[in-house]
Amino acid sequence: MVSYKELGLVNTREMFKKAVAGGYAIPAFNFNTMEQMQAIVQAAVETKSPVIMQVSKGARAYANGTILRYMAQGAVEYAKELGCPNPQIVLHLDHGDSFELCKECIDNGFSSVMFDGSALPYEENIAITKKVVEYAHKYDVTVEAELGVLAGVEDEVSSAVSHYTRPEEVEDFSKRSGCDSLAISIGTSHGAYKFTPEQCTRDPKTGKLVPPPLAFNILHEIEKRIPGFPIVLHGSSSVPQDEVDTINKYGGKLPDAVGIPEEQLREASKSAVCKINIDSDSRLAMTAAIRKYLAENPSHFDPRQYLKPARENMKKMYIHKIVDVLGSNDKL
Ligand SMILES: [Zn+2]
Repeated sequence: MVSYKELGLVNTREMFKKAVAGGYAIPAFNFNTMEQMQAIVQAAVETKSPVIMQVSKGARAYANGTILRYMAQGAVEYAKELGCPNPQIVLHLDHGDSFELCKECIDNGFSSVMFDGSALPYEENIAITKKVVEYAHKYDVTVEAELGVLAGVEDEVSSAVSHYTRPEEVEDFSKRSGCDSLAISIGTSHGAYKFTPEQCTRDPKTGKLVPPPLAFNILHEIEKRIPGFPIVLHGSSSVPQDEVDTINKYGGKLPDAVGIPEEQLREASKSAVCKINIDSDSRLAMTAAIRKYLAENPSHFDPRQYLKPARENMKKMYIHKIVDVLGSNDKL
């Protein structure tokens, strides 16, 4: 048994309380590689922001869960080395799909876990979430649950259609499951293709897709029923069109990739939404920088040469999200 407290990590409890009261949201960035971890920590330290580093099923398959845990431990020490004496870093399991997996992560130093029972029947979702909560709380680990189904395809989850969260269920669910935060579905979506062209309108000037707006009415209804309860948004990358353009310019092929407009995430951050998950934007920033670098430097073959601009580009994106979208800067 490794307690996250020994590793210098924190759970989400205090962090979310402050974020809800302060009208901002904590960034939850997925990580798979050392360069992503470094960029996340550098961005969080420079902006004095708390940060959630999250690990998906795909990340564990790619990098190995043990290695990722040591990387999170390394992130805490790295933040201190960069001049942040009290970093607020959460190591979170993204989309845990069983009690056993959540337990394994809790036993191995995670400070927060998600149990995603959103595809299960309602009562079953409550029962397993509750079991995870009972185990997690023994070790002061916080638990995120999910109600409602997000559309989109990513390495951890996939669903063709979304079902918005039903506001009439949230009070009963949060009370009976005992979860610490709740991921809801109000129109965000996983991946870099969040909406089909048919769901969007097209900007006549740029020819780019304009996605349908998030269902803020559902969010506000949920807030009314469980005032101050921490709400989480998954699938909240914005799919920056300059990165998509760079990828396409240097040999990539991402037609009609579209995300959630940042103004809408900025608005959501001011509500009880206190955790916003961003994964695809980091992938796009990394790929755009690497494609550009290799196209411009065809004779280079040292990975450090192209991973360095990739890391810089991700860091720039993380800082932008923290300062200009979520507002979690200067909160340490
Ligand atoms: Zn997700």
